[in-house]
Amino acid sequence: MKQDFYLQLVSSEHPISQIPSKKDLIPAFPGIFDILLECRAAYALRRLIKDLDAFDKIVPVSGFRTRQEQQDIWDQSLKDNGLAYTRQYVAVPGCSEHEMGLAIDLALKQEQIDFICPDFPQDGICGKFRSLAPNYGFILRYPKGKEAITKIAWEPWHFRYVGIPHAKWIAEHQLTLEEYLCGQSIQNLSKVSTF
Ligand SMILES: [Zn+2]
Repeated sequence: MKQDFYLQLVSSEHPISQIPSKKDLIPAFPGIFDILLECRAAYALRRLIKDLDAFDKIVPVSGFRTRQEQQDIWDQSLKDNGLAYTRQYVAVPGCSEHEMGLAIDLALKQEQIDFICPDFPQDGICGKFRSLAPNYGFILRYPKGKEAITKIAWEPWHFRYVGIPHAKWIAEHQLTLEEYLCGQSIQNLSKVSTF
């Protein structure tokens, strides 16, 4: 995939423009064949989970989704939870990072796992994962307090692969992807205006 694929902003205002081909998708965790990620994101996630020795403590809940799968999740949540809840936690079909293969929802391994809002606590192994994630190219995509920018509720379980230098910068400066990309375009504009 081209470098700019990994920094693509996808949100309700920015529909997906590039999806990975089937050959670029591999299991997010080895041996779990129905949860896929784009291969660079998958290898980064596997390295992180391996370095944390967490393959038996953290489980993948949802990775790549086709447009139809996103539509089915939206429709089902609408039926089960209503529009307000669905809008907060489920991206509009065609506007989900899961359709890019760059987003992974994770849960602490336990018997009951909520598919829409999995339990991924702040402390313990999940807390360690969260603090190390940027070193492997992942950001917490929908942080607490940034809901007005992301238009999605705080999702402590949803991680997005953007690549290492970007993820580190975003985490260090406590930015959202929206703020990071907006800052970059302002920098580019100021560069252009000096010529
Ligand atoms: Zn998600």
